[in-house]
Amino acid sequence: MTFHKLGVIKLLRKTLHKEGYEAPTPIQQQAIRPAIDGRDILGCAQTGTGKTAAFALPILQRLNAAAPGDKHRPIRALIITPTRELAAQVAESFRTYGRQTPLRAAVVHGGVRKGPQIKALKHGVDVLVATPGRLLDLMGDRHVKLDRVEVLVLDEADRMLDMGFIEDIRKIVAAVPDDRQTMLFSATIPPRIKSLADWVLHDPEEIRIAPEAPAAETVEQRIYLVEARNKQALLEHLLADEDVTRALIFTRTKIKADRVAERLSAAGIEAKAMHSDKPQNVRKRRLERFKSGRTRVLVASDIAARGLDVEDISHVINFDLPDEAEVYVHRIGRTGRAGAGGQAISFCGIEEREKLDAIERLLGRNVGVITDHPFPSPLPRRDQQEQRPRGLGRFRIRSKRPRRLR
Ligand code: AMP
Repeated sequence: MTFHKLGVIKLLRKTLHKEGYEAPTPIQQQAIRPAIDGRDILGCAQTGTGKTAAFALPILQRLNAAAPGDKHRPIRALIITPTRELAAQVAESFRTYGRQTPLRAAVVHGGVRKGPQIKALKHGVDVLVATPGRLLDLMGDRHVKLDRVEVLVLDEADRMLDMGFIEDIRKIVAAVPDDRQTMLFSATIPPRIKSLADWVLHDPEEIRIAPEAPAAETVEQRIYLVEARNKQALLEHLLADEDVTRALIFTRTKIKADRVAERLSAAGIEAKAMHSDKPQNVRKRRLERFKSGRTRVLVASDIAARGLDVEDISHVINFDLPDEAEVYVHRIGRTGRAGAGGQAISFCGIEEREKLDAIERLLGRNVGVITDHPFPSPLPRRDQQEQRPRGLGRFRIRSKRPRRLR
């Protein structure tokens, strides 16, 4: 597949070539053609898959076809992102891909002075990338008018909802024309994203990319059937193994992340918790200590772990299974980076068995169940025998009885 075959114009192809993009990524292969045709897109994909180009190229191509005069430059494409960092990154991508076009991209987000942003808007922009709060602020002051928007993109929509932006998004969507083209990207599509999609999208092309599929292939995955009351003891037992050189533990809630880390520390295993209620400077420090190897164990809730890019994580341990199967794939992708072998261990209580089924459906295969451990669940899986992994011997967790076990 080539960008040419997808219908990308020569002007943009030249830039892509200079950027060293030889072939479109899977999301680009699936999204670019329908997006150029003006279709709405529902994309299940995350950062790192090439999704920015998947929406930016069709937008640039569309806007360039009717390039503006310098006098009248209404905002014709609006991209909403959850964070400042992502907004800046997306705007930069537009500038890069569109550098051979006369189109202008600007970014507005909080945390910085409004003045320069207002000045850029007055100058006229074709593509505006924005975080919700600052955009509404500028709309309120009439510095931004959205009545000529032709294309709307909601990027990392699940994260925007996690961050409580739903009302802001509603207001923004209500301010853009109804006959627009809309693209919504999200790492996961839980029911609340589906209902947002049903509301903002019209007959969308649905695209689902399993971005961490290579990680899911290289990571050795194991399930421990263990009841909730025994999870902490099993965790301490597993962490006693010195092969666990750097472990990232996921819990379902922030409170639980704190509790698990505190109990580990009390048991003599140095561990820190990481979640969005911690002040930014604490998060930064803890992450640095984890990265440098001074902290061996980090216990995180999902939101804090988004975009957590730490090399050489030997083990990802799901203390709890996530509610959405895609999140599991995302979590285990924190280990086994760049083709390195990593291990993913998941605890599954009786009440979590359905989540495990959903994960296995997404993976298209069963995950091996470890039965030989000190805290086995009283209720084995029906098909457990068939699921015993062949390569069990390679999985070197010593089956040592923990000290406090009676
Ligand atoms: P994104 O998921 O949009 O954040 O993109 C992830 C990275 O992949 C960025 O650094 C892009 O520059 C790069 N990228 C996107 N598309 C391609 C492609 N077709 N070939 C090579 N690199 C790409």
